Amino acid sequence: MKRVAVIGGGVSGLATALTLSKLDGDFQVTLLEASDRVGGVLETIHDGPYMVERSADNFATLIPDALMLSRQCGLEQELIPPNSEHRQAFVLNRGRLLPVPVGFSLMQPTRIRSILGTSTLSWYAKLRLLGEFWIPARESEEDESLESFATRRLGVETFENLVEPIVSGIFTANPATLSMKATMPQFVEMERRYGGLIRGHLAARKKDAAAAARRASGARYDQFRAPREGMSHWLAGLTAELPDGCLQLNTRVVEVSNPTDSQGRSSWSLQTNRGTMDFDAVVCALPAAATAELFQETIPQAAAIVGDVPYASSAVVAMIVNRADLKGRIDGFGLIAPRKEGRPTLAISYTSNKYPGRVPEGEILLRVFLGGALSPHMLDHSDAELIEIATEELRAILGWQERRANWQAVIRWKESMPQYVVGHAERMQQLETVLRQHPTVKLCGAAYSGVGIPQCVRSGRKAAEELADNWSEQ
Ligand SMILES: Cc1cc2nc3c(=O)[nH]c(=O)nc-3n(C[C@H](O)[C@H](O)[C@H](O)COP(=O)(O)OP(=O)(O)OC[C@H]3O[C@@H](n4cnc5c(N)ncnc54)[C@H](O)[C@@H]3O)c2cc1C
Repeated sequence: MKRVAVIGGGVSGLATALTLSKLDGDFQVTLLEASDRVGGVLETIHDGPYMVERSADNFATLIPDALMLSRQCGLEQELIPPNSEHRQAFVLNRGRLLPVPVGFSLMQPTRIRSILGTSTLSWYAKLRLLGEFWIPARESEEDESLESFATRRLGVETFENLVEPIVSGIFTANPATLSMKATMPQFVEMERRYGGLIRGHLAARKKDAAAAARRASGARYDQFRAPREGMSHWLAGLTAELPDGCLQLNTRVVEVSNPTDSQGRSSWSLQTNRGTMDFDAVVCALPAAATAELFQETIPQAAAIVGDVPYASSAVVAMIVNRADLKGRIDGFGLIAPRKEGRPTLAISYTSNKYPGRVPEGEILLRVFLGGALSPHMLDHSDAELIEIATEELRAILGWQERRANWQAVIRWKESMPQYVVGHAERMQQLETVLRQHPTVKLCGAAYSGVGIPQCVRSGRKAAEELADNWSEQ
């Protein structure tokens, strides 16, 4: 019987524990979670008729790992696609809300007519954007920032008006330091392989016209799924699949050591608030700073690399208001605000437009995202001040007539979003090299190879499978 500790009961640690417990092999898995619940940053607030997610409200399925895990645990029926109505997003442009052109996918122009028709770009910017076709591919293989890649290929105005706000909304990042290789390797590869983004789209269309058309249209929303009853309900379903006795809540790991017994066999000894526990292997699924702290004595080289991953903070002000009190456009899934608009808002998600059952009819749940890597001081504000800021944003951007929401909450995310800065992918390769010397330790979670739920699940599953493979090879 191999005793494995999984430290951290966020979605990454849960995925590791579930995978290990379903694999063939004699594993005794213990999932150690410091708090009194699983899920980490994922949590649903239920209050009367309202259902509000504190962080993620859905996940993508193009990377299929979260969907597959749901399927394995009998939870696929609980996942719902976004509403078919209102499948569009807006971008703030000189104070007006304009639709993000359908033919612009993250940073790839895919439909010339929709780009030519948009008012979000000047004629000069449109021509510069379509001229991407003739911009030669970069020769260097070195990593570069999102800002460098996007301005080089698409021009400054397209970067400022569309790419920067779309990406800031996802990563809450500074585009001048965000790594292209680590966050959007598909576009780097497209440039390397086909010479550019438009050329990449044309090549994909040649190969599979239907798929390329789907990607280029509003149908790309189809790839998202949300648990019908909220993330906490989904997490409860996953937890129910863990073997008896596996989950130990209220158990914080404070120290990790690696003693060797008299026969030279090494084990892992975990000091927790509930005593010392011994294991044959450890999977650490914690945020980077906590991981670095736990391993600085036993694997200092790994701890140094992990500890260097920076994190950004943000705040979400969730407000439920009457639809009739909003004069601005709410016939979409949300809006993004370019930095040059000079507003504190990164994005506003019209969360209850995306999925049913979140608020009663006649009301709308708006989640205002503030802060991010470029506004680290936003969290210095008190809750009352953050509500005041969000209120002013709703008044200015969406023409809200009232001063008080029907329901509101401030959710603080201090140092919660890993920032993959230029060189991240190379540093992760170095980390892998270091960890190869320690086959009974695996690291997984949002700090390494993707911050989204599917990527976290994939990292947790991979950690479990690699551990099992190492043992089967022995
Ligand atoms: C505001 C916000 C919105 C997001 N929106 C989306 C979205 O729409 N879609 C999407 O796919 N992703 C989204 N994400 C990203 C995604 O939700 C996270 O990256 C992912 O949930 C992180 O999971 P994790 O298990 O790696 O880490 P965490 O969730 O951070 O889990 C770590 C766990 O470890 C525990 N722990 C900490 N220290 C110890 C210790 N010493 N001993 C034991 N346990 C410990 C913690 O209590 C916690 O439960 C969002 C994230 C945020 C913050």
